[in-house]
Amino acid sequence: MIVTNVLLGVLPVVFVVGTSVLLGRVSAAVAAGTASAEWSAMATAFLAASAAFSVQQALAPVQNALGELVARRIDGRIFDRLIAAALRGPGIGPLEDQRLLSHLSEAGSELEQGVHSPGRACAGLLHLITRSVQLAGYVAVIGLAFSWWAGLGLLVAVMAFRYGLRRGLRAYAEVFPRLAAERRESRYLRGLAMDATAAKEIRVFGLMKWLLARYRKVYLGWIMPVWRERRRLLLWPYLRYTVFGLLVTMAVLASVAAAGARGATLTSLALVCQAVLNGLRLGEFYPEADMQTLLGMNAFRAARDFEQGVAEHLAAEPAAPRGQLAEAPVPRGEIRFDGVSFRYPGRERPVFDDLRLRLPAGKCTAIVGLNGAGKTTLVKLLTRLYEPDTGMITVDGADVRSFAVDAWRARVAVVFQDFNRYEVSAADNIGFGAAPHAGDREEIRVAAKDAGVLDVLEALPQGLDTPLVRHVTGGTDLSGGQWQRVALARALFRLRHGGGILVLDEPTASLDVRAEARFFDEFIRLTSGATTILISHRFSTVRHADHIVVLADGRVGEAGSHEELLRDGGRYADLFRLQAARFTEHRASEAPAGARSGGGQVIP
Ligand code: ADP
Repeated sequence: MIVTNVLLGVLPVVFVVGTSVLLGRVSAAVAAGTASAEWSAMATAFLAASAAFSVQQALAPVQNALGELVARRIDGRIFDRLIAAALRGPGIGPLEDQRLLSHLSEAGSELEQGVHSPGRACAGLLHLITRSVQLAGYVAVIGLAFSWWAGLGLLVAVMAFRYGLRRGLRAYAEVFPRLAAERRESRYLRGLAMDATAAKEIRVFGLMKWLLARYRKVYLGWIMPVWRERRRLLLWPYLRYTVFGLLVTMAVLASVAAAGARGATLTSLALVCQAVLNGLRLGEFYPEADMQTLLGMNAFRAARDFEQGVAEHLAAEPAAPRGQLAEAPVPRGEIRFDGVSFRYPGRERPVFDDLRLRLPAGKCTAIVGLNGAGKTTLVKLLTRLYEPDTGMITVDGADVRSFAVDAWRARVAVVFQDFNRYEVSAADNIGFGAAPHAGDREEIRVAAKDAGVLDVLEALPQGLDTPLVRHVTGGTDLSGGQWQRVALARALFRLRHGGGILVLDEPTASLDVRAEARFFDEFIRLTSGATTILISHRFSTVRHADHIVVLADGRVGEAGSHEELLRDGGRYADLFRLQAARFTEHRASEAPAGARSGGGQVIP
């Protein structure tokens, strides 16, 4: 790339010299005839100019191709680094940090678009070699053929204008980060208009007009200041430079004419005219380099800030004994939260303050609490996506931090509330629960059957091999409840491959009332022997659990069996009765007449 750019800088200068010499030799060659030495000298100059021109034409596409290659390689490399940083570390703190997320989104979208990317900036920087070599060549030509003062004059004029232009462009480039929030919103609105999932609500609520108007407003809101700045920073300097260029050109032509009158050679006159005119053009805007070198580095800086932020997050994690024990045990006695306190970074209020909690092994413990009580945070701590600020989580007395994170996680199967819907086959969606066993079709079928979704998956066009992606030919999508069962099958698959601990965060949120009731009946059978943690904000659905813990104000408010808690008549009893009453009313109004007197009720 460097060699090509140097050559493309040298060749136009060679062409200018070649054509000027050619011009100077024409009259002597014509006078001496085609067989003369003068004719050959003219032909040599002609060949040199032609060769310079042809090679330049041939190299231009090579320069573009190499520039593209450089840009893609560099962008690819930075993308790799960004992905590596996003996947770095055992926790998810960096990906829940607003500041870092905005760096990640900025870098990711610029790299994806590849217009003002770091790769383009590097390719643009290399393209500057061509312009610099040309400028040096023209200055040398003017110096040698005419006057070094004139050469210096051209150099100073071009550099001064380039300096002014770059300063303007830099100010222009700074407009973009200032408008980052508006640009993000306009990206969001554009995505919303094209999103298949959002399409339903947008139509039903008649939001199309609003969406278009809002998009127009937000888009113009950031593009208009950009246009204004562009006019201020680029148009006026450009016009000023054009006027200056005209004046310089006129002065040069006048002085060349005067030199001609004094008897200067045609070659030197042609040389100076061409070198000055071509040289002056080098003071303009460079479309192949200027914006790229200025804006491309924004994405690089965002990527670097994200990487650094992730490293800082890792360094700031509570000093924990980082164990490397490669095997974590399946719990035999209990899992305990011992005086655990935890506060999200940047938040004032702790979610947990001296939390003491017992999860008996091989039993089902339900954790209930109102929204925001910290149920999901408890799962994040148990799965070591965050580490406690103080206190510890133990399994049969051993601090979970004494095990390698992966070893501990291999014991835990989770259905998160916002579980992933992988765009792969149904079988892989389940097999991901224990990747090394993902090829075990029989086990996958058993897990799917236990989760109650096997029939649905087998009825798909390609059975378990059907890609669960709507926008792929031959692919299909599932309903919310079916997806939840697939996620459950994934967790059960892990349980069958040495999991031992099963965590279900609001597992019935997408199931209908009947399916929910069935789910709990089957659930006890399916998970017998596993240490199960069932998270729910519905007090009326967890009564089958062996042990119920009510979270409130960052601590355990009450704990015991359903009967014990009802007997105690505390918060659980109140909320259970309230929610169960609503549930019964709902069921009664749903049932056909005659069946209203409680027949078939799941929860009395
Ligand atoms: P629950 O699952 O019981 O509804 P969560 O565990 O999700 O509650 O949240 C507990 C508290 O922590 C809430 O006040 C919530 O706003 C806060 N919270 C949850 N996630 C984060 C986060 N990533 N960063 C900061 N605060 C959070």
